[in-house]
Amino acid sequence: MLNIDVGADAVVKELERIFGRVLRENNGELRVNCPRCLENKGKRDTNFKLYINPNKGFGKTKGFWNCFRCNYRGRGLIKLGLQAEKLQSNILAESELIASTPKLNITHEIQGNKKSKSKALTPTRLPIGFRTDFSATLVGRNAYSYLRGRGLTQQQIINHKIGYVSGGRYRNTVVFPVFNMNGDLIYWVARSVLEKRYLNCPGKNSHVLFNFKNQRHIVLCEGIFDALAVGKFGVALLGKILKKDQQAILLNSNCQKLTVLLDQDAFAEANEIAKKLSGHGIEVAIAFPPSGKDAGEMEPQQLQRLLEVAWQDES
Ligand SMILES: [Zn+2]
Repeated sequence: MLNIDVGADAVVKELERIFGRVLRENNGELRVNCPRCLENKGKRDTNFKLYINPNKGFGKTKGFWNCFRCNYRGRGLIKLGLQAEKLQSNILAESELIASTPKLNITHEIQGNKKSKSKALTPTRLPIGFRTDFSATLVGRNAYSYLRGRGLTQQQIINHKIGYVSGGRYRNTVVFPVFNMNGDLIYWVARSVLEKRYLNCPGKNSHVLFNFKNQRHIVLCEGIFDALAVGKFGVALLGKILKKDQQAILLNSNCQKLTVLLDQDAFAEANEIAKKLSGHGIEVAIAFPPSGKDAGEMEPQQLQRLLEVAWQDES
């Protein structure tokens, strides 16, 4: 833990212990390599983009930090130290994993897209400790009841190869693997069973669409639970914003009809997505769940009705 009740030099020493090298700016600011960039930007920070002002603020919130690359920011050096140590142990575990997997040269082509990119990709691996034998452990049984409580059927749990982790950093999470159209694992999302917290697979997720199977009709949702509530047409963006790669995948797919179904607070984002996708052979409608709810919390009939109405309004 970072001890801040000491002089400036000692703060630097502590930061060095956690972050390695610390740069000092003339104005008293300190710079370290940002611990969040890998997660947020898909690339490790090597340019000391995390600026720390150790003198701003008081008490527990003393010390402000801000990353100019990934916008990771906050107050309180103790918190920063704790978060960084946690992130680093995670990154370390991941890099060991990556180091042990062979690099493959995969040519991946987005269907129907003239441009094909050839990239050296590291295959995605599920988190250490991932398992699907829910009944075998207490954590597993809790994870299973959690999933059922969120409205998933046993068949969905099996079909989507949903699992859980019983120990280690991802302990007490349910894990949703995300596959591309070819069935390759490209990402995963872990959701804590105990608190409202998501932990994402390290690396970029700009190309990730949960449950995208080149459907003709797609209901584009924010989260995985929303998409699962919709069923076979439900595809999750993992957020409120349609990223460029996701857009390209949809525009080059068989999709003819697409309903944007974001939470009510995402009115602007939903319209933005509709604008990006309409025309190009895709008919787009927008629907919003009733206030205060997300799609994943709606009754199936209510959800069905909402989607029908969206298309009635359209025609
Ligand atoms: Zn950063």
